[in-house]
Amino acid sequence: MENCIFCKIVKKEIPAKIVYEDDLIMAFEDIRPQAKVHTLIIPKEHIPNNLYLEGRHKELIGHLILKANEIAKMKGISETGFRLIVNCGKDSGQEVFHIHWHLLGGEPLGRLIC
Ligand code: 5GP
Repeated sequence: MENCIFCKIVKKEIPAKIVYEDDLIMAFEDIRPQAKVHTLIIPKEHIPNNLYLEGRHKELIGHLILKANEIAKMKGISETGFRLIVNCGKDSGQEVFHIHWHLLGGEPLGRLIC
């Protein structure tokens, strides 16, 4: 998608601190972290949000969620715990319309939301 900031990160047109990448997904540090660890995990395919997921995405999303565990381990937060958040639509506060999972941790999160 032409004007999607996350598609531009995927294409390396704008910089990001990339922590993981493969053919299907990418993980990079959130530019405005809400916790000590705040990594965003995205599919490379432009999918605006949860409502746009289709049956053909099952494998992709399963892959992403399993990689989230590995990234949590890499970040040293798998033992202490973490939160995975997906915002969907206006009332959730979704700001970037390229589906992404917030991986948050590194400190007690309380009722923190993203
Ligand atoms: P949302 O509110 O859509 O669920 O979350 C979007 C997230 O993307 C926010 O936490 C915001 O800080 C992050 N973000 C927005 N623009 C950029 C950017 O250009 N680079 C990075 N790394 N993160 C961004």
